[in-house]
Amino acid sequence: MIKSKKILFILCAALLLSGCSGHSKDADKISKLEEQLEEAEARAEKAEKAEQEALDRLKEYEDAAEPESENPDTSESDEAAPVEGETAARPQTIVLDPGHSGVVAQGTEPLGPGSSEYKSADTGGTSGVSTGVPEYELTLNISLQLRQELQNRGYTVLMTRETNDVPLSCVQRAEVANNANADAYVRIHANGSENQSATGAMTICTTPQSPYVPDMYSASRLLSDCILNKLCEATGCNKERVWETDTMSGNNWSKVPVTIVEMGYMSNPQEDATMQTPEYQALIVQGIANGIDTYLGY
Ligand SMILES: [Zn+2]
Repeated sequence: MIKSKKILFILCAALLLSGCSGHSKDADKISKLEEQLEEAEARAEKAEKAEQEALDRLKEYEDAAEPESENPDTSESDEAAPVEGETAARPQTIVLDPGHSGVVAQGTEPLGPGSSEYKSADTGGTSGVSTGVPEYELTLNISLQLRQELQNRGYTVLMTRETNDVPLSCVQRAEVANNANADAYVRIHANGSENQSATGAMTICTTPQSPYVPDMYSASRLLSDCILNKLCEATGCNKERVWETDTMSGNNWSKVPVTIVEMGYMSNPQEDATMQTPEYQALIVQGIANGIDTYLGY
């Protein structure tokens, strides 16, 4: 606000100093600029508010989850306290999308509903710099373990693919989540970078200004925060960030809360090797499942 007033003041001063004779023209220009500034401010405020709301909700969930796990007092609930090792059925449906495939879907498709910009239907993904394992194998491996863990916790789980020989476009993948009216659509990927020292996890969601799914922002941002926090907590890996972007067609086509989980860097020799160990994979699975639980209020 203060900054834009300053800019406006400078613009006014500049127009006066330039000695223009068309005063009404200048006034028009100023009021137009003022309007544009106000619109930009409103957009920025809205985005900031949505992000704050998402973070507040995440904190509420986390605060509520902790004391409950230590003290399973169900005095406010008619349901019996769950017996340790058993989990009550959870009514939600989770769709898991193991990123990429051994057979890459050909052609292009719109970046989002109604977009005139087209993007590859799918890409080959990356591969491990030290292990040589392709990303599509790791993503399916983790997704199958995650499906088992989520089923153990009582969720209904659907997969966009269960083998490495099916070509699937980003729109086809999103349709699986849309048709199931999934409570969360979780896309499993691993990262690659030219900088081999890059390590850690990030999650990716759309922005509040998305031209395709602006209403999905708060939920997708919260899902992304919950999974990133719990994944990094479980594995101890470097926490990168939640990346907000409208350039991911699979997110743009999703009508349900969605996140891409970049579990770690296959371009980092150490992280690549670690991600292939069953011990670390079990931590990844626990972390993502905990994040989904937190997002859904468990
Ligand atoms: Zn990928």
